[in-house]
Amino acid sequence: MKKSLIALNMAVVVGAGSLFSAGFASAESISELKKKESQIEENRSKVHSNIKDAEKSIDHVKGKQADLASQLEKLEKQMKETENKIDKLTAKIAKTKEQIETLKKEIKVLEDKIEKRNELLKERARSYQATGGNMNYLEVVLGASDFGEFVERLSAVSTIMDADQDLIAEQERDKKALEDKKKSVEQKLSDLESMMAEVKEMKAKQEQQKKEKNQLMKKLKAEQKKLEKEKIGMEEEADILAGQKAAIKKAIKQEEARQAEIAKQKAAEEKRQAELAKQRAAEAKKKSSQSSSSSKSTNAGSSSASSKSSTSSKSSSSSTSSSSHTAAPAPSSSAASGIFMKPAAGYFSSGFGGRWGTNHNGIDIAASGSVSIMAAADGVVSRSYFSSSYGNAIFITHYINGKQYTTVYAHLSSRMVSNGQTVKKGQQIGLMGNTGQSYGQHLHFEIHEGPWNINKSNAVNPRKYF
Ligand SMILES: [Zn+2]
Repeated sequence: MKKSLIALNMAVVVGAGSLFSAGFASAESISELKKKESQIEENRSKVHSNIKDAEKSIDHVKGKQADLASQLEKLEKQMKETENKIDKLTAKIAKTKEQIETLKKEIKVLEDKIEKRNELLKERARSYQATGGNMNYLEVVLGASDFGEFVERLSAVSTIMDADQDLIAEQERDKKALEDKKKSVEQKLSDLESMMAEVKEMKAKQEQQKKEKNQLMKKLKAEQKKLEKEKIGMEEEADILAGQKAAIKKAIKQEEARQAEIAKQKAAEEKRQAELAKQRAAEAKKKSSQSSSSSKSTNAGSSSASSKSSTSSKSSSSSTSSSSHTAAPAPSSSAASGIFMKPAAGYFSSGFGGRWGTNHNGIDIAASGSVSIMAAADGVVSRSYFSSSYGNAIFITHYINGKQYTTVYAHLSSRMVSNGQTVKKGQQIGLMGNTGQSYGQHLHFEIHEGPWNINKSNAVNPRKYF
């Protein structure tokens, strides 16, 4: 029901002191605040140079992506060429196979013809044999009635024989030619097929390359996303630091004014006390000359007044002494419980500490409907803004009993305070919501005892306070 707050790169966010009711700041604490202010400035310039570095890294990654994109484009072109080659080879192979089939048919036709011719010759030979064995041709020739007929018969017989044999020889030659052609076409087919194997191998290689390059591209995109997220975090951090700087400036001014006021009051009080003492002395003198019984009652009144005056002078002097910090109530659990109030009505939907392998640096308070979010203590709003992770978020810097705290209120539906605004404990600062990385309406609330840091190591369980 809530978000994992991505590390909002919070480098030391130093809280500002302030003039609030519980403040016991001294001159020393003002110099402390000023030191913190310069620390913030130092951190701010560090963050700005980190942002520049992040920008450089993003540019570098983008450059790598552009290189890779042009490589991929080139590869795509090559792959298209390979694809074309495969198409052409496929067509050629099909055509060649067709040629081979045609040749096979033609050869078969010739073979049949030769077979028939041979049958015919055999038939003829058998018929000669039936009429007189091997001598039939001779008998035909010798049976001629005269020389003229003899010559005629002789030539006729040889013509028939020659014609038969010529025809067969011719057919055999044709068959041989066809077989040679078939062989060469088959060779061509085998060449084409080995070419196809090479091209297919190339295609496989290109596909592997494409896969690798796409994976690299994915990695680079993820790297860019991560860097951009980090950059956004740093920009957020820079903004928060700027807010803290403004808050601390305001706190210093308020503290100085408060001390001036205290000094003025102290001087006035001392003057009043001196006058009172003088007056009393005069009265005592006057009364002692009147009666001793009435002087007793006056002395009692005077003693009570002087003890009151000593208390008041002690409290005002403590504001200028360093002992003011220890003068604050001892941080017993009962005293601590008074510092912060529960910032919203609702039930505790998630506690402080480890969760889902990450650390939950605050607590979650959930409720439905329109729920007020209140400042947990007096303070100065150091940041009121929208964050992609926190959603509508408010940071308040507190300076309580000489100690600095930072509270964070996240996922609000609306914010009612702005940067640098002074707020009172219990004052409404916004409405509970479900903005940013949040799943369901709730308040994510953090208390940091001291400044923020990148590891949120000052985050404490707010439940110790309420
Ligand atoms: Zn939370």
